[in-house]
Amino acid sequence: MSLKVGNLIYRGKAKDIYETDDPKKVIVKFRDSITAGDGEKKDEIELKGFYNSLISAKLFEVLEDAGVKTQYIKLITPGYMLSKRLKMIPLEIITRNIAAGSLVRRFPFKPGEEFKLPIVQMDYKSDEYKDPMLNDDIAIAFGLVNKEELKFIRKTTLKINEVLLDFLKSKGILLPDFKIEYGYDPDGNIVLGDEISPDTCRYWDIETCDVLDKDLFRKGETGVIKAYKKVASMILDKNDKKKWNVEI
Ligand code: UDP
Repeated sequence: MSLKVGNLIYRGKAKDIYETDDPKKVIVKFRDSITAGDGEKKDEIELKGFYNSLISAKLFEVLEDAGVKTQYIKLITPGYMLSKRLKMIPLEIITRNIAAGSLVRRFPFKPGEEFKLPIVQMDYKSDEYKDPMLNDDIAIAFGLVNKEELKFIRKTTLKINEVLLDFLKSKGILLPDFKIEYGYDPDGNIVLGDEISPDTCRYWDIETCDVLDKDLFRKGETGVIKAYKKVASMILDKNDKKKWNVEI
């Protein structure tokens, strides 16, 4: 398979964005780099990009099928995703169903506590300011988004949460929390961008309660790639494996 990749536009912590012949489209390359603690802890884990691209592609397809607009066009080959070119909004939208991570470090929630209603939180995506938590007024005062856009983002995020919760539950996975990012597509619409992978979500095995996400890396535990592979094998069906020519 020949893959025509243009100039590098942007290099993030775990993905690279390349130009294509079409100015409205980019290729997202999922790298094996893994970071935690705002990039303080770094490593390379073989095949991480491969699994993250498959997991993200599958979840973008599930969301598109449910009517959520995303940047996703197709997975060209594992590791390389053809996407709409977006102008990203520097907000990390975090949705929480079960208390974990920074929420239990910063507030008196009990780890593992289930919320009656999902919590949607917004952080300002900025290494310089260390991703501080924002509220609507601060985001609007910054000029990051307007009131209507925030309303749309919240509504879409809650829908994404419902769709992902249902789908992952049917595959034996709990979704304590996840982070997503939005951007403007070439027509000016706000769509879901970035990735939805074990780097950006917490996934717990419903049966065993095993952690299947980046928390393993954050805590210095082994079995990171085994966990990512397990998520891919749990959510990809026969058709996906055939379509993307993978055996997991
Ligand atoms: N998250 C992320 N990028 C960030 C911060 C958080 O993808 O820069 C994800 C993280 O993987 C988790 C959720 O957002 O699924 C909530 O993270 P939390 O605020 O608990 O931070 P953590 O404890 O992971 O530092």
